Amino acid sequence: VIKIGQPEHSVITTCAYCGVGCAFKAEMRGEEVVRMVPWKDGKANRGHSCVKGRFAYGYATHQDRITKPMVRDKITDPWREVSWEEAIARVAGDFRRIQEQYGRTAVGGITSSRCTNEEAYLVQKLIRAGFGVNNVDTCARVCHSPTGYGLKTAFGESSGTQDFDSVENTDVILVIGANPPDAHPVFGSRMKKRIREGAKLIVVDPRRTDLVNSPHIKADYHLPLQPGTNVAVVTAMAHVIVTEGLVNEEFVRARCDWDEFQEWCEFVSQEVNSPEAMAQYTGVDPELIRGAARLYATGGNAAIYYGLGVTEHSQGSTTVMAIANLAMATGNMGRTGVGVNPLRGQNNVQGSCDMASFPHELTGYRHISDVETRTAFEKEWNCTLDPEPGLRIPNMLDAAIEGTFKAIYIEGEDILQSDPNTHHVSAGLAAMECVVVQDLFLNETARYAHVFLPGCTFLEKDGTFTNAERRIQMVTKVMTPKNGYADWEITQLIAQKLGLDWNYTDPSQIMDEIARLTPTFTGVSFEKIREHGSIQWPCNDDAPDGTPIMHVDEFVRGKGKFMLTEYIPTDERTGARFPLILTTGRILSQYNVGAQTRRTENTAWHPEDVLEINPFDAEHRGIKDGDWVTVRSRAGETALRAVITDRVATGVVYTTFHHPTTQANVITTDFSDWATNCPEFKVTAVEVARSNGP
Ligand code: SF4
Repeated sequence: VIKIGQPEHSVITTCAYCGVGCAFKAEMRGEEVVRMVPWKDGKANRGHSCVKGRFAYGYATHQDRITKPMVRDKITDPWREVSWEEAIARVAGDFRRIQEQYGRTAVGGITSSRCTNEEAYLVQKLIRAGFGVNNVDTCARVCHSPTGYGLKTAFGESSGTQDFDSVENTDVILVIGANPPDAHPVFGSRMKKRIREGAKLIVVDPRRTDLVNSPHIKADYHLPLQPGTNVAVVTAMAHVIVTEGLVNEEFVRARCDWDEFQEWCEFVSQEVNSPEAMAQYTGVDPELIRGAARLYATGGNAAIYYGLGVTEHSQGSTTVMAIANLAMATGNMGRTGVGVNPLRGQNNVQGSCDMASFPHELTGYRHISDVETRTAFEKEWNCTLDPEPGLRIPNMLDAAIEGTFKAIYIEGEDILQSDPNTHHVSAGLAAMECVVVQDLFLNETARYAHVFLPGCTFLEKDGTFTNAERRIQMVTKVMTPKNGYADWEITQLIAQKLGLDWNYTDPSQIMDEIARLTPTFTGVSFEKIREHGSIQWPCNDDAPDGTPIMHVDEFVRGKGKFMLTEYIPTDERTGARFPLILTTGRILSQYNVGAQTRRTENTAWHPEDVLEINPFDAEHRGIKDGDWVTVRSRAGETALRAVITDRVATGVVYTTFHHPTTQANVITTDFSDWATNCPEFKVTAVEVARSNGP
């Protein structure tokens, strides 16, 4: 006899929120999730979870789900439900017509971290093999694209260097621009445990996060830098390490390019790079930087963890390379307890990047211009590939505004809410003749769509996600897709309508193809992942069981590369009209733009975004706790409720971006990372004034 509310069976799957990648046992009663129980054998979570993965799955059955395809001729027309056949024919027909009318390069697509690896792979294959262009990009453009660029340049691979277990052997934890207790909670807890056991902690963050000072944790050093000055702080730390003779010369001689290292030493030793000289930009007491640098270099195994507070800057890629310099100079690479670890915000941001979602790379981060790589794909896909990199998301939007880009296929990404300069995004989308959105809900981007293809939640998917430690894990369907098709099947339907010979019957066949084409994946298969529980790539003949720690005997690129990381202040400046700097972050119970978590009970914990403002700045403006305020920048304005707190320093204000009413991207700037176009979300000059609300 089964009691009401008792599960009948259970399925092991992977959380679809942050990059920790917790494994869960979904306890089911028919098609209903009774509860999500953190899986004790999950390699990334070891039986732990946070409130997102455990409780915030109700969006899968929320009444807002769209389950039927819809089309309309103009974006001002009402939506019309149609058959899958009609919707797919409309997409294929419009894209072909547009290419004939405006040229081959007038179309493109966007994948996202909501996609499984197999889904992301198929989207980019459709764009490349079906339309003959490399105009494909991913949501990583607006988060960790500088990680890809910076780590590939320094070490030869676009990924974090360690597994999560490595933290157990760390003596010094350096956290830069990340807030793991809120954004990566399960790993954040593990980090805190290690600190309670005695590891030292350095936090580089403009805000006093819980890691800096909470009942059980106190950072040994908190460097409360001015937003936008990461390069100045990290280069100043390098100055101390080099000028005080704290370099691990034995490691550098054996593992890195010695000439480049010497050139770097000369550069960082200059007086302009000293903590004292940099203080005019960083606002940080030079003695704090000196102390932190000494601790990092001499405190034993030292590991760096960083997040979007590093990447979402005009010098995001530079900061990633500056961090890599620090790790190499001190020999903190290539063994457990050390390394450089980007904390990926989304469940499959690592995977979507691995799967060739960038306009210049094929799987495994190999450049599209490489003849040998391209030839292998052309043979497998039976097509001719364009050797030229395609357009990034902002360039697609620019081209649309200029009239040369007319159609886009977007799977699982709400670019109108996620991407910078909302006015630019809406102008680009409005200028297109065919916008196809494949998603769960009629999101903000869908306001500009001509075709809406209903997608699946992770509870309706089979496939794999890859977490922040390169761990590939199974996502297993627990309920029938409400829309009738898996996301990869929808992409395949479009490809078949275009006349492509695609006949996948199971996502495992897509992974088999990825493994055939990708040297770092040749040993990966669904069978093996199920057998091992998970696999960390590279997994191939050299590493048949996967690779928890990278760059052990030598860097993937051979010799580690030191780069000169000159601090160049952002063009976003404060002044009389906009005297404060707005920076952004996340909160534990919500996730990104909130499309999922806002449709669950988690919203009770965080019903609205607020603006944190220092007591001095608030008093100066007559603002009281709980007042509505207008936050105005050069780009636009928004309304938020004020919370007065000394977690932020004077001159800095802070908000989260989980609710669409916040419209944080209406006020952010157009500035972006010089190497990757990752937007500078973390630095916006603003003024704040009391208001009557929205
Ligand atoms: Fe784990 Fe992250 Fe999911 Fe929380 S959101 S359960 S930490 S994967």
